[in-house]
Amino acid sequence: MATVLRQNPRDIAGLERLTNELLPLYLGVDNLQLAPGGVVRKVFPVTAHQGPVGHDLLNDPLSKEEAELTLVTHDLHIAVPAQLRQGRPGFVGRYPVFLTDKQGRQTFWGFVSAVVLLDTMKSFAQFDQLKQQGLAYHLWRSHPITGEPQTLLRSAEPLTKVKVTASIGVPRGRWQLTVSPMEPDSLFSSTRLATWLMVVLVAMAAGALTRSMLLRPVELAQMVRRRTRALESANLSLERQATHDSLTGLGNRALLEHDLNRNIEHVCHAKEQFAVLLLDLDDFKSINDSLGHRAGDAMLQAVAQSLGRCVRSADAVYRLGGDEFVVVLNQLSDAVLAGVIARKILAEVALPHLIQEQEIQLTTSIGVVIHPQDAEDAESLLSLADVAMYRAKKSGRNQMAFFSPALDHAAQTRLQLVDQLREAIKTEAFELHYQVKVDIASGQTVGAEALLRWRHPVHGLIPPTEFIPLAEETGLIVPIGEWALRTACMTAESWHQSLGTPLTIAVNLSAKQFQDAALLEKVRTALLHSGLPAQLLELEITESMMMRKPDEAAATMRALRQLGVHLAVDDFGTGYSSLGYLSRFPIQCLKIDRSFVQNVPDSDADSTIARSIVSLGKSLGLTVVAEGVETQSQLDFLRVHGCHIAQGYLLGRPLEAARFIEQLRKQEAAVE
Ligand code: C2E
Ligand code: CA
Ligand code: CA
Repeated sequence: MATVLRQNPRDIAGLERLTNELLPLYLGVDNLQLAPGGVVRKVFPVTAHQGPVGHDLLNDPLSKEEAELTLVTHDLHIAVPAQLRQGRPGFVGRYPVFLTDKQGRQTFWGFVSAVVLLDTMKSFAQFDQLKQQGLAYHLWRSHPITGEPQTLLRSAEPLTKVKVTASIGVPRGRWQLTVSPMEPDSLFSSTRLATWLMVVLVAMAAGALTRSMLLRPVELAQMVRRRTRALESANLSLERQATHDSLTGLGNRALLEHDLNRNIEHVCHAKEQFAVLLLDLDDFKSINDSLGHRAGDAMLQAVAQSLGRCVRSADAVYRLGGDEFVVVLNQLSDAVLAGVIARKILAEVALPHLIQEQEIQLTTSIGVVIHPQDAEDAESLLSLADVAMYRAKKSGRNQMAFFSPALDHAAQTRLQLVDQLREAIKTEAFELHYQVKVDIASGQTVGAEALLRWRHPVHGLIPPTEFIPLAEETGLIVPIGEWALRTACMTAESWHQSLGTPLTIAVNLSAKQFQDAALLEKVRTALLHSGLPAQLLELEITESMMMRKPDEAAATMRALRQLGVHLAVDDFGTGYSSLGYLSRFPIQCLKIDRSFVQNVPDSDADSTIARSIVSLGKSLGLTVVAEGVETQSQLDFLRVHGCHIAQGYLLGRPLEAARFIEQLRKQEAAVE
């Protein structure tokens, strides 16, 4: 709401329409309020209790202090009035809206607030289950101004002496939840209490999760994970020294086992896979024997650093003792990629290390297991990794082996594929196919998206999903993407010339390309060489690419905008689509992901999501494109809800350049 207000503070009717669309998605929210100048003027939906209208938040002694606090913090604040104006207990998330004028000065507009009733929260968070389990509970917070404890929810039964408390982070504050057995002599151990506490906390987060599924899935999933983890570490009181190796600062075996168990639990829900790489240095003993223990220690530290350089931030490195290390690769999209990273590690470790002013080289052997494919528990994963590692040792030094022979085979094929990709770049064995984009209201063709294909000498035409992850992992995507950009611009300009009418061309960027410091120069060159007007080029990037380093991404995007090219968010709705964030980026277009369009209009949930993306996009002044439109009923639905552009098999499959233009000519002839 705040984002939309900032764009156009006068369009209250538009805001009301948007609010009515959004409210059903946030099941726990009872009503939303607008308070321009601090006085509540609107309560949405209109069917809600209108009691708060006229409430002067900044002058009522009961709300004044907490409301003023947000003017200082400029941030969301959760206030807990003793009684809501609607006459029921609940809490209010209040967000101060500041408008920025042309000179960059900020003026306070007023508040937007969301009201949650405690009864609703109680059922979300399954507080009743606690009672069935014989537990009493108390949810409270310290008042942010007075510091006095304030009760939010409590069971009828009082707390007893045995209790466990957890703290829950809310914007700008913390809430405390304490549970204790109603019968103090009952068999409740503190671990069982902690387990129940966890159930409630996770349910609270999960409640929030269903509400916000559309807008912030990744963030909330992380929140659940963080909370569970925070609680675990509080309850298990893991001692830090006991979990780290003092020589290298890496996690030790205890931490590895703990993390593996945590991973396994998480992955079960997320349907992800992860890899465990067990490394054993080749012939480390001879370094120790010939150069002494000090040099050996320095070597281990150097190896630890090399490993750190090979992994992403989501991964983790451990030292098990001696010359054994473990690397855990999380969130693997493809098990075989673990092999690519293992190769990278082999190469990095084999580089000369400067130890006591001498350059020393050594190699390592790596065994790779995949969860859940190879084994499902931590112990088996480690022992199978050991088996694989010995197989790697036996096949000679500086080798890696998967535990699973099938994966070993697949990895071999994949590595060959990497070589062939390198070759394909030299011979330009790629093609672009073009898929038409159609204006829904007028039926006019407005542009095309360029989609990459690899013409393989043996396997024929390979779709991008089969080689782009590999190209991305090896960095080969950068030259391939540059080729695609150049070619797409040339083709689009030739259409422009021969048809006389402008068509936009959309080109996909990969994460690596987006981070490439030379991107701007490459785009500029592609435009210059082809002669394509910049406003006809649209670059598609995904939400996750923007969210990784939002400030840098926004800077890159602003620079691209200055060239005149358009920017679109691809696969919208699948990632981290916090609306507040979106408005910070200079984008012109949202592409609703195919997965939502697919189930329209049959699935209510997906229809609501598709509809809200359209209205969100429109209220931010963006063009909304629906991808993967396959049926007439999908197209009709999109037309009714005002989506601008459609792309999908119904309107045309991706075609080679020559066939694409042939189709266009035919269409034009038919119209004339
Ligand atoms: P994307 O950007 O989401 O592209 C749309 C994909 O959906 C294309 O698959 C397209 O053929 C397919 N598609 C279009 N209409 C329909 C439909 O009605 N039904 C169904 N089931 N599918 C439809 P494609 O060509 O296999 O490309 C897959 C992905 O590969 C693209 O997804 C994009 O992420 C990536 N990609 C393609 N070309 C390039 C490129 O030049 N550079 C980079 N970095 N990535 C590319
Ligand atoms: Ca795309
Ligand atoms: Ca897409």
